[in-house]
Amino acid sequence: MPERMCIACRKKAPPGSLFRMVAGPGGEVYAELDSRLPGRGAYCCFGTECLSRTLEPGNLTRALRSRTATPAADEIAASLRSLLGRRIEGLLGAAWRKKVISAGRDAALRAARPGGGGRLFLAEDLAAGSREEVLKRASLGDGTGAPAELNLTMERVGAVFGGRPVGVFFLADSSLARQVALRSSQVSALAPA
Ligand SMILES: [Zn+2]
Repeated sequence: MPERMCIACRKKAPPGSLFRMVAGPGGEVYAELDSRLPGRGAYCCFGTECLSRTLEPGNLTRALRSRTATPAADEIAASLRSLLGRRIEGLLGAAWRKKVISAGRDAALRAARPGGGGRLFLAEDLAAGSREEVLKRASLGDGTGAPAELNLTMERVGAVFGGRPVGVFFLADSSLARQVALRSSQVSALAPA
């Protein structure tokens, strides 16, 4: 995979760590996770600081070599958060079909064996008491890694898994787990201040 460079901080990173912006025919700016939209694109880190620097007057026009409207940073961030949410749902759906999900607190904790790879995930609106208990019980094992915060509600997680809201689950496939954790951390990086 070729590396891309953030036009704000000039850091190079693999494509999945940056998002892309392109200008539409009327100069309107679109953000996307992959390089699907036609035309010259500009890449940027997932982060409010790089995003606002990218949107400073002239920067985007220079990078895209075309006249662009100057979109509001919070609009771009909101559109990226929604794309990331759908991406996370897609990854979880793939994990579900692969049968590498143990949903629900007890099943998830049983599946999270020390040294077995994979990762525990906690939905964003998991009740504080449940969160504490999972963190405590997970810390008794070792090698499973700390549970990751998922920027998705219990309701949306449950909908992907075809049923009731799910606040805690274990994803046994390490590669999928890494992608879900990465996408979720990108949502956090774009959270409104
Ligand atoms: Zn950057």
